Amino acid sequence: DARVDEYLSYVSYPGEQALSLVEMRGEGKNEKGGEENERDIEKGIKEGNVKRIEKNSEKAKSRETNKESNKGAQKSQSEGTDIHLGTHIQEGTIIHNASFLEDAYDQDQYSQNSRPAFLGYSGSGDVTAEYVFCNYGTREDFATLEQLGVPLAGKIAVMRYGRNFRGLKVKFAQDHNMTAALLFSDPVDDGNVTVAGGVKAYPDGPARNPSSIQRGSVQFLSILPGDPTTPGYAIKPGEDKSRSDPYYALPRIPALPLSERDATAILGRISGHGPRVAGWGAGLISGFDYSVGPNPAFRLAVHSHQNATIATLHNVLARVEGRNKNDVIVIGNHRDSWTPSAGDPHSGSAVMLELARGLGDLTKLGWKPQRTIVLASWDGEEYGLLGSTDFATYYAKRLQANVVAYINMDAAVTGPNFNLAASPMLYEVVQSVASELPYSETRTLLDHLRHTHKGTSVVGNLGSGSDYTVFLERLGIPAVDMGFQSAKNSPVYHYHSIYDNYNWMTRYGDPGFKLHNLLARYAGLLVLDIAETKVLRLKTADYAVKLAEFSDAIFAEVPDSWLYTPAFAPGCPYHRNMTVRQIIDNTKISLAKMLAKNQAFDKAAELQQHQYDHWDDLSFWEKVKLVVSIARTNRVLKYYERRFLSKHGLRNRPWFKHVVFVSGRYTGYAGQQLPGMAEALEDGKQHDFVHELVKFDMLVSSLAR
Ligand code: GLU
Ligand code: ZN
Ligand code: ZN
Repeated sequence: DARVDEYLSYVSYPGEQALSLVEMRGEGKNEKGGEENERDIEKGIKEGNVKRIEKNSEKAKSRETNKESNKGAQKSQSEGTDIHLGTHIQEGTIIHNASFLEDAYDQDQYSQNSRPAFLGYSGSGDVTAEYVFCNYGTREDFATLEQLGVPLAGKIAVMRYGRNFRGLKVKFAQDHNMTAALLFSDPVDDGNVTVAGGVKAYPDGPARNPSSIQRGSVQFLSILPGDPTTPGYAIKPGEDKSRSDPYYALPRIPALPLSERDATAILGRISGHGPRVAGWGAGLISGFDYSVGPNPAFRLAVHSHQNATIATLHNVLARVEGRNKNDVIVIGNHRDSWTPSAGDPHSGSAVMLELARGLGDLTKLGWKPQRTIVLASWDGEEYGLLGSTDFATYYAKRLQANVVAYINMDAAVTGPNFNLAASPMLYEVVQSVASELPYSETRTLLDHLRHTHKGTSVVGNLGSGSDYTVFLERLGIPAVDMGFQSAKNSPVYHYHSIYDNYNWMTRYGDPGFKLHNLLARYAGLLVLDIAETKVLRLKTADYAVKLAEFSDAIFAEVPDSWLYTPAFAPGCPYHRNMTVRQIIDNTKISLAKMLAKNQAFDKAAELQQHQYDHWDDLSFWEKVKLVVSIARTNRVLKYYERRFLSKHGLRNRPWFKHVVFVSGRYTGYAGQQLPGMAEALEDGKQHDFVHELVKFDMLVSSLAR
């Protein structure tokens, strides 16, 4: 059976946007404009004297139509977020206007239907200011710029994509009092497949098309996935719940995406101005020497207005009822997309549909799986994992009671390299299924996986950026994310661009759809393996291994000065008189015990499955005993991951409840393991670290018992 599951969620879409490069009169000799304006702008920001533009009528209208359950959003809208820093275009000449449209080609029918690129949840406003190249816009990049004394306040940040989630680039720029953020793709990140290296650009070849633009959401993903006006809850149509101000998880400054072509026009003008940072020079924007700027002779005029509204999201859920209705496997991918998006997410959609067809054929034969299988097609992922997060927070209790695993597919095929990231509970099954399928004539899919992950973990750690986030990191449900992605010299995947379409996929991404087919078989087998075995295909020992690995890496970094001071853990009588060193030693002993216990447990579980496979050989009492043991084992396995949840969530970002796996606070996509201890250590907060260490020690010792 299937149904549509709806929510009312906050989104934004572009009203007007423009970006002009302005050459100042007098070449920055400050007739009037240069320094004076700069001071005005900086003063304006410092004094919080940022003028708000009153709502335009369109916004008022959208407010009216969305009166229903739009209270918090209304409030923040009426406070106004439009930033106006004075326009000084009249003091200079516009020498370039950025285009937000990608080039159209006869060979690519999809490119003829492009819409202007924008960044979802961008702030709105008008800003004219000098601009600074901020590299990848990572936390370290901004620290470097600060150290060098590069003026940031009041300036516009121009940053390249890569290394962290785009919304965090905008956040860091905003945190440094910058007034707007521009994001572009530097072909240097395309490896050898570049026009500079002699490769033809799409659609004539596999290199990046110079007009292509990466769209995307700029929410502060690592603070809060999901609808920023409903943190930790969700609103269905007809429900009257209030919303909160979203701006702690969204930028107030305007942000726009740029093509390489426009980035080239803009960045060339700051060549020779400001320092060149060691290590930042590797780049392929032609005519740009990678100095950071600014150049007082040039400014950017940003005009960006987005309309916020409440949209109805439609998740589509289908279910194959199992003999056991209370054990559920959910497999999901999102359905919304910025462009035709053959890769993101529709390579996943194609695999899901094929899986649905296969399961449908089985049910027509009268088949009923042992456990219930739910297929989910999520809406609103691109804005911030909205559909999956609304669903999973709305039904949190039921899902935590019933779901044994969540399987995610998103941009499932965008290149030849197979990647898996998962909860340690799923390591065994995801690899074992990969060993059953051929990748090529001589290699299994597992061989291929091992080959391309030499020297690193075969199965990676989950972070964020797709719909598994809420299941694992808030609800404590074992999750896996899978897909084929770009390799070093594979055709450039035009992520979130109009060129991510059927034409690109058939010519470059996956000619013949061989990898799509392979992934459908992989996903199908994985679902069956988790759904059909009598004893759940989840393991506990890998968790002990990983906890030791993650905590060892942290313990190795603890400064000596912390190790031998009393641990001052006043609330806890057991730890009160211990030093940090002693608690760490204690934790290590518990981790070893936990490993031994879990290995024994997993082994017993395997034996139970083995005995069950030879049911006919068992005596009456053996059968009774086995049924009881299997029920106990399955109960432990089903709820094991929930034990890693903390009630109050992570310090400073309480939405995240998992103590082992969360989105990295400065990276977004890449995960942070054991974030409590890791972040306290990174921040030099000894008291917090001890607190987190004590909590970890208590958790591990309870798991070891
Ligand atoms: N997959 C989306 C992206 O990377 C997720 C956006 C988000 O979670 O905010 O843009
Ligand atoms: Zn996606
Ligand atoms: Zn996407």
